[in-house]
Amino acid sequence: MPRTPLIAGNWKMYTTPEDARDLARAIRDGAAGVEGVDILVCPPFTSLAAVAEELAGTPLALGAQNMYYEETGAFTGEISPLMLAALGVSSVLVGHSERRQHFGEKNETLNRKVKAALAHGLKPILCVGETLAEREAGASWKEVVRGQVRAGLEGLDAADLGPVAIAYEPVWAIGTGKTATPAAAQEAHAMIREALAETFGAQAAEERRILYGGSVKPDNVRELMAEVDVDGALVGGASLKAETFLPIIKFRA
Ligand code: PEP
Repeated sequence: MPRTPLIAGNWKMYTTPEDARDLARAIRDGAAGVEGVDILVCPPFTSLAAVAEELAGTPLALGAQNMYYEETGAFTGEISPLMLAALGVSSVLVGHSERRQHFGEKNETLNRKVKAALAHGLKPILCVGETLAEREAGASWKEVVRGQVRAGLEGLDAADLGPVAIAYEPVWAIGTGKTATPAAAQEAHAMIREALAETFGAQAAEERRILYGGSVKPDNVRELMAEVDVDGALVGGASLKAETFLPIIKFRA
């Protein structure tokens, strides 16, 4: 079975609920009739309810950018998988590099988040990727990325993996305008798929969607998506305007 491409927008810490409603409406209306591509938008927590209303009854899916792994409790400031599911959220980003970098999120915590998401019927998108320093250190960047994949999925079986996607986002390409070349993205994605196959078997690895993220724009999406192991895009900056997100969704047009 070929993998259906997934184009996901990460709105980061942008949009008030009103802005988010406008953006969701523009994307919803502009994406009407697009087939063969799964579309996901990940607004900030405070805009999830408004966007859920705008997307109700459409094929567009709603995602969160983060969550805590406990269901309830004295965890001031945190949001649980139960709360997300109750809002109609179906996917959640886990371990975005900005979470790793600014909030100290480590592989072990991210593994707990992946498991908690699955336990509550949410589809985790595990984000991995090397920093510029790691990339410049030589071939060891590959071990960093493989290690993030293995640690993030530690303790899961192939049977658990169905809802899981991986997003490969080289940190040096996020928000910098520097995109990995299609060949470089392909090399990393193939390596990630190989790491998945080693742990979970060839079939589970073949079925996994591996998204590329890092300065994806309307003018580079097509060549990235042409690579055999690139199954979608996680889009930051260009997902904040319908004028730039819609052409990415319609990369085949
Ligand atoms: C991201 O936020 O995941 C991202 C890839 O950002 P940008 O597209 O702006 O590089």
